[in-house]
Amino acid sequence: MTGLGELLEKQRQLEESMKTNGGSLQPTATIEKTLVEQVQGNLASKKALQAEIDEARDSVEKENRHLQYDVYRPKIKALEDERDQIMRGNMDTCEKERDRKQKEIDSLYVVVNHVQRILDFLRLKRAEDLTFNDDDVQTYRGRQKVNLDYIFDDDYFKIKLFIAENEKPKNKFSLIALGRTIFPEHLLKLTYGYGVSINSKHRCELQVVLREAPSVEELLTWLQKPSRSELLTGLKGDYEEVKAAYLAVLEQYQVEDFLELMTDRCTCGNFLTVFDSHAFRDDILDCRHCGQKMEKLRVRGMEYV
Ligand SMILES: [Zn+2]
Repeated sequence: MTGLGELLEKQRQLEESMKTNGGSLQPTATIEKTLVEQVQGNLASKKALQAEIDEARDSVEKENRHLQYDVYRPKIKALEDERDQIMRGNMDTCEKERDRKQKEIDSLYVVVNHVQRILDFLRLKRAEDLTFNDDDVQTYRGRQKVNLDYIFDDDYFKIKLFIAENEKPKNKFSLIALGRTIFPEHLLKLTYGYGVSINSKHRCELQVVLREAPSVEELLTWLQKPSRSELLTGLKGDYEEVKAAYLAVLEQYQVEDFLELMTDRCTCGNFLTVFDSHAFRDDILDCRHCGQKMEKLRVRGMEYV
């Protein structure tokens, strides 16, 4: 119905326009020309509007670039510089203050470290027997071994030489120096090399391969050349200085001078102090020297150390 209605209406309009044009044969052309003009006009307008859009966009982009790079970037840079300078200043002040306080701490610790070293000396096992039992020094898999002499023999440090067969194809024998001292590593630093093809049941603080050769004889011949002091070069570390300091401490101080710093004490002479981390445990501790239970002198030590 509607489709038919539209057709009828179009027909009526056409007839109407023919009437107004005096029965001319170009009525539709007149209508189409108007539409073409409209299209042309609209396209031209669209082009103009599009051009305005593009121009406006270009203009805004240009302005924004100007704002970003010419106006705000320098301002932001200046602000960042200002901020960085203030932050650096703060940090410098803080670090200077820290350095000053650290120096103060260091100076406070001169005495603390001194006393700590005294206490380290005072609790050493003084009567420890450092003698080597040759049978307790063994090679691996029953390889050949020669027990040689002590090249250093002192109350607190002994160094003895051994020759041991190793597992190398050519230089099959090693001349080895083993050393025992009462001073632990933090008091006396000595060379402790691994893979020396010898195994000591004793606790050794020094373990060095001095030389390797194809035979025992060659090592023995070589051994005749260097003097005792040449042989000992580098083996003793700072032993003489440490020993002198130790003897001076034994002369000047006794354990009782430092009772207030002690947390645990054993009848064997060993003790723990506020400097020992495990001394802060409240339970009764086993003595590392003799295995007995230690006496608790102070519960929780001194928290401020
Ligand atoms: Zn003990």
